[in-house]
Amino acid sequence: MAQTCSEYLNFILTSSFGRLSPQSLAHILTFRLYNTFTNQKEVFVPLTPGIVRMYNCGPTVYGRPHIGNLRSFLFADVLRRWLEYKGFDVKQVMNITDVGHLVDDADEGEDKMLAQAAKEKIDPWAVAERYMKEFLSDLGALNFLPAMIYPRATDHIPEMLEMVQGLVATGYAYEVDGDVYFDVSKFPAYGKLSGNRVEDLVAGSRIAVREEKRNPADFALWKSDEKHLMKWDSPYGPDGFPGWHIECSAMARKHLGEQLDIHTGGEDNVFPHHECEIAQSEAFHGKQFAKFWAHAKFLQVDGGKMSKSLGNVYVLDDITDRGFEPRVLRYTLLRGHYRQPLNFTWDILEESRASIENWDRLAQDLGRLSEDVEAAPLGMEHVERARKEFEEGMDDDLMVPRALGAMGTLRGAVGRGEVAGEAAREALNFVKSVDSILGVIRFEDGSLEASIQSRIDARTQARSAKDWAESDRIRDELLAEGIALEDGPDGVIWRRV
Ligand code: AMP
Ligand code: ZN
Repeated sequence: MAQTCSEYLNFILTSSFGRLSPQSLAHILTFRLYNTFTNQKEVFVPLTPGIVRMYNCGPTVYGRPHIGNLRSFLFADVLRRWLEYKGFDVKQVMNITDVGHLVDDADEGEDKMLAQAAKEKIDPWAVAERYMKEFLSDLGALNFLPAMIYPRATDHIPEMLEMVQGLVATGYAYEVDGDVYFDVSKFPAYGKLSGNRVEDLVAGSRIAVREEKRNPADFALWKSDEKHLMKWDSPYGPDGFPGWHIECSAMARKHLGEQLDIHTGGEDNVFPHHECEIAQSEAFHGKQFAKFWAHAKFLQVDGGKMSKSLGNVYVLDDITDRGFEPRVLRYTLLRGHYRQPLNFTWDILEESRASIENWDRLAQDLGRLSEDVEAAPLGMEHVERARKEFEEGMDDDLMVPRALGAMGTLRGAVGRGEVAGEAAREALNFVKSVDSILGVIRFEDGSLEASIQSRIDARTQARSAKDWAESDRIRDELLAEGIALEDGPDGVIWRRV
């Protein structure tokens, strides 16, 4: 892909981007995304002008997604929202792995679905059903934009077998007693994403290598096991199931085509999962599988790895049980930069809650200021600066902390009374556009229920009559209902608390 400025210019002039106005081009071609494949930030240009094909590795549905999983999925949601903000039509696919993901992420070990089914004493299909529902309900609670489709691996067995058979036919894969392996020696580029070299993998391998493999680094596309509870008939025997990696290659191909603009996952997916996806897909169709590979860093808890033994593998309910709204978790998981490690603590949740409430208040203040149509416009420069800072931050590899800094600066100006009239309306629009990415702010429509307004009026009359007892009574009554009143030089101001 074109990298230098002159190459880009040439690309623009010779592609259908050339039909776009210079303004919209400037707007689109400013987003730089870190590509794990090239280890650098690159200007994002989709393969088809205006359309982004994005595949996100989704959950393995053997348990409720933990907050670390949610961080990776949320990164994909923020990326999708930013691309839409930039005017792209995003075709987003997030898969559901409901078979074939083995405990060790490679060819050995139990299937995670079956292990969970044994624990719960139910069949693996029921496990998949239960946790898929929980996953989708968590996404709803956390205000994710719905993907175009959440394809399930078990619904795509024919598509996987088509690829497996194609790879066997062209010599990239081979069968041994019902198992089919990808032959890494036939794909010299194996390792190009992760930087791993086949020789090093072999030398460093801790796992006993299966004798049936031609090369120790070969990986399974299809496995046979008559005891496996989720199994399908195939040219390799009656009791087979797919390897985890082939699932994503096949589902991406089916729903987005052979070439993707962006493929995402958590950092642990780089190897082996994404490396193997590249090998299978590119060996199968001979084209570059994904242009951008984007990975979120792992979430840590209390400075370390989440682990069952420490009892800190938190899920959404653990957060809401402690009185935090789901949006507080959403904000906590996205307020840092996705490529920086994030350490989850209960204190951070408290900070996030306070921070969101500040944004709510900013929106309320701007709502009220916007209603004053008589006020002269004041402080448009604050809004323009904030918008520029926000867009520059997000364009720089989704630098959310810079975007939040822009909102903070604007809040300062509003607090100092430097924003009014038309600028307040613009500022409110700006806060709404920031929230089209954050998805956490609560916007009030600026009006009050009549029963509340009439009591505020009654209190104002009581104050005029110096009836402090009645005035305080009404104020306390409203506070108990979530409306706080403050008396300022220009009269009473209300806000929801
Ligand atoms: P799984 O359900 O195990 O297939 O994982 C689903 C997604 O969550 C994958 O993209 C993982 O890379 C990601 N993931 C797992 N643990 C964490 C973590 N602690 N922080 C961020 N992402 C994670
Ligand atoms: Zn995947």
